[in-house]
Amino acid sequence: RRTRVAVVFGGRSSEHAISCVTAGSVLRALDRERYDVIPVGIAPDGRWVLEADDPDRHEIKGPDQLPSVDADRSPVTLTRTGSGAGLVVSEPAAPPRELGEVDVVFPLLHGPWGEDGTIQGMLEMAGVRYVGAGVLASAVGMDKAYMKVVLAAAGLPVLPSITVTARDWAGDPEAVRKRVADLGYPAFVKPARGGSSIGIAKAHTADELDTAIEGALRHDPKILVEVAAEGAREVECGVLETLDGGVETTLPAEIRITGDHEFYDFEAKYLPEEATELDVPADLPDETAGELRALAARAFLAVGCEGLARVDFFLMPDGSLVVNELNTMPGFTPLSMFPRMWAATGLDYPALVDRLVTLALQRGTGLR
Ligand code: ATP
Ligand code: MG
Ligand code: MG
Ligand code: MG
Repeated sequence: RRTRVAVVFGGRSSEHAISCVTAGSVLRALDRERYDVIPVGIAPDGRWVLEADDPDRHEIKGPDQLPSVDADRSPVTLTRTGSGAGLVVSEPAAPPRELGEVDVVFPLLHGPWGEDGTIQGMLEMAGVRYVGAGVLASAVGMDKAYMKVVLAAAGLPVLPSITVTARDWAGDPEAVRKRVADLGYPAFVKPARGGSSIGIAKAHTADELDTAIEGALRHDPKILVEVAAEGAREVECGVLETLDGGVETTLPAEIRITGDHEFYDFEAKYLPEEATELDVPADLPDETAGELRALAARAFLAVGCEGLARVDFFLMPDGSLVVNELNTMPGFTPLSMFPRMWAATGLDYPALVDRLVTLALQRGTGLR
């Protein structure tokens, strides 16, 4: 019989809609000669829904369907222009009772409750194979504070930062302001466990710190304040496991913000009219590209990733590279950086999806 793949998408995080768009593309790409596909949506309130196997419901087919965004709502709302249909898993009348046998789960979820080890733990408990990083690597990759501890311990370059909790801020805001002043301005303030730049702000001076902290705390009771990489170029690299247990990397790609956005914020990532140039591959000296790819592979191994990851870097004005962060389930529409970098490196979208499912099947279940 054909391999049965459950594609799980949507989810409880603010990146719900992004996950729906990704799922549309993956449903389209899975080869139906080889796979039976079971789409499973998770509604924003956490209920699970057995969806129709219909990529049209979520796929973005052309630039005219690129979503409009309401970033102030949580989860962030994306509406497909053209169809007017919202990209959201609708809530079920009744939860799914019968999934049939599932050979492998593709957890296409971004953010907490999906990219953070929670669904991975549930699948481990049930002895079901799944695509991507396991429990610990997912949890480490989701938490920017712990990710830095792990990367730094492996000798990888990261930016100085401090962790601030809602308790710290409520208890002694003056002490927090002092710690940030010691770190220096400008500073980036980020939810510790976020994605798609949601809740991130740049505090240019001390005057902007309180607003930035309160904004980030609305998304996560734990936040990071990090030294800004001023004048740096932003470069990313895709990493994949190979079928023989190795690790390979993509040609790096660069994000150039040409509009009036100061950084790669949510709108710059997802709004079609925003002027963000993606150079795939990046125009870099061979030596820099080689160094970056080696660091990306080291970051993947340091966190203990499996399957896939996208590693985000800053190329500093002095030519040095710093790891910004790693995503264990990067954006995955054909327009996203991760698949585009693989396409530029010689692996097209269907082959990429196929590799991930094959790796998950080959890996089996249990400790590894
Ligand atoms: P992703 O969608 O990649 O998961 P994320 O929400 O995890 O994003 P980051 O990648 O940490 O967030 O930051 C988002 C963007 O904010 C970066 O791509 C960059 O443009 C900007 N940024 C974050 N930290 C810094 C920094 N220290 N210095 C300069 N720019 C930064
Ligand atoms: Mg991230
Ligand atoms: Mg992310
Ligand atoms: Mg990032």
